[in-house]
Amino acid sequence: MLSGKLPRASLGFWPTPLVPLPRLSAALGGPRLWMKRDDHTGLALGGNKTRKLEWLLGDAQRQGCDVLVTAGAAQSNHCRQSAAAAAQLGLECHLALGGQAPTSWNGNLLLDALFGATIHWSGQDRTGRALPALAEMLRGQGRRPALIPYGGSNWLGAAAFVHAHQELMTQTRQAGINLGAVVFASSSGGTHAGLALAAQLDEAEHAVIGVAIDKAMGDAESHFTDRVGALATQTARRLAEAGEIDHDAASRWERRGRITLWEGYQGAGYGVVGPQEREAISLTARHEGILLDPVYTGRAMAGLIDQIRAGAHSDDRDVVFWHTGGAPALFHHADRLMSG
Ligand SMILES: *Cc1c(COP(=O)(O)O)cnc(C)c1O
Repeated sequence: MLSGKLPRASLGFWPTPLVPLPRLSAALGGPRLWMKRDDHTGLALGGNKTRKLEWLLGDAQRQGCDVLVTAGAAQSNHCRQSAAAAAQLGLECHLALGGQAPTSWNGNLLLDALFGATIHWSGQDRTGRALPALAEMLRGQGRRPALIPYGGSNWLGAAAFVHAHQELMTQTRQAGINLGAVVFASSSGGTHAGLALAAQLDEAEHAVIGVAIDKAMGDAESHFTDRVGALATQTARRLAEAGEIDHDAASRWERRGRITLWEGYQGAGYGVVGPQEREAISLTARHEGILLDPVYTGRAMAGLIDQIRAGAHSDDRDVVFWHTGGAPALFHHADRLMSG
């Protein structure tokens, strides 16, 4: 569907596999489940940010940038993949991470250091409020920073998931899958915006369902679904302006675009591992030999399991769970994973 005019850095191995989950499906007694393995994107232990970074850094390279600047939590998967991508492309990498300098290095933070990223500790803020000042400082040093937003979620990051949806559609067609729903973890919103927009552009019949991971992404003034919808609208416009999709398709989204979000699974907040994440991680590990992560995919799978137990998805259509990566954070959360 995308015509391929936007520059794209080559960072991952595509397509990522689409695999059946027969033993987990049987254990839950629900629909046939499949998994889209973006934990195997190939860059530095994988994850959904690899897709976004191909477009974000393709654009940064075209602009002649020499340093990547981005932000996240201390255990950010986005920052780990950004640091690896920067190393591969020969860019310097600066990360603004929430929290303070740690006494021990593990999980994603250890990997950031191995990739040679410069880390700026930004205390309470993990969503990149420090980024403009950091970019300004680098410009003052004569550098050309590429400012990548929190989670890589601007229109280019979302565009990567318009492309990803097309990849999935090719695979479901080849496998003869009658698709009822695609379910995934939604946090900074780029994955969600891209998949929701693409499903409509592809005239797909299935539901596109994000599971909300992080309460902080919605606030009193703007509900998270509104922000995802606005990002999808902006993505549609920019793709049309870039000649990647036609203007009619973009305006069809603007008339009908809807965002579906399950909000009931946020437990005790972002990154707090509870009984639902423990069960989902354990069931998937023991029935399929597949690792989910404690912050995103463990929570999203817990939501899907709960919905299946409540009788949702009981028609004869299959469900694809989009594995967005994150397993390096398992080790950071070892104690909470083993308690209870
Ligand atoms: C970033 C991330 C997500 C959420 O994707 P967004 O596009 O930020 O909503 C889900 N899972 C993992 C493992 C992630 O690192």
